[in-house]
Amino acid sequence: MLNTCKKYLDEKHFCPHCKEQLSCCSTPPIHVGDGLGWGTEAYFICLNDECSLFKNGWEHIEMQFGHRASYRYMLLPGNTEGTPMMVGSKDAFKGCVIDSESIKLQDERYAREKEALAKLDTCVAEKNLEPVLYLLLDEAADRKNRERAADLLVELNDLLCIDPLRNHTFRDDNLVQKVNLGIKQLLKTNFKKECPDCAEIIKAQAHKCQHCGKEF
Ligand SMILES: [Zn+2]
Ligand SMILES: [Zn+2]
Repeated sequence: MLNTCKKYLDEKHFCPHCKEQLSCCSTPPIHVGDGLGWGTEAYFICLNDECSLFKNGWEHIEMQFGHRASYRYMLLPGNTEGTPMMVGSKDAFKGCVIDSESIKLQDERYAREKEALAKLDTCVAEKNLEPVLYLLLDEAADRKNRERAADLLVELNDLLCIDPLRNHTFRDDNLVQKVNLGIKQLLKTNFKKECPDCAEIIKAQAHKCQHCGKEF
């Protein structure tokens, strides 16, 4: 989906009716009624409200068919000539416009995930916490990859992971459990505990927190 849409984003097409540039839209998952059979993940459409096709369409359809609708000029990828597409309102299709900025961001995020994933194999040997933290803190990353990262927490044995993980809100309950178990194990291995009051990491045998003074 992402790649197909990206391909289209670089294309520039113009409306023959108003000369404005067509917007690139993603195909709605369900389309009722016109038998077009989309066969494409994206298409181009003139969303200019001042477009003559759109402006005059209301009257035309009212007269022809007796209902309230108009036309937008639409072009399918690979075609040189578009077709009028019936729309029931001014806002139809406006929510489907592919936003190139967000696609770019998604793309960059995906590249960072891949990069972090590639580093997982060597991160323990290199004592590199970074890829593990990256995957765990990226809610958009693949669940399997994040679970793999969580499994490495104990082996990595780096207490610096605790703060960022504790400050992150995980949406995946399974992952929270894995992370919590990892941190627990990590603290145990290092003879540490978290102060229940100030959350600083202190010696497991301490009777008083050196940070907040809480006594145990
Ligand atoms: Zn137009
Ligand atoms: Zn404390």
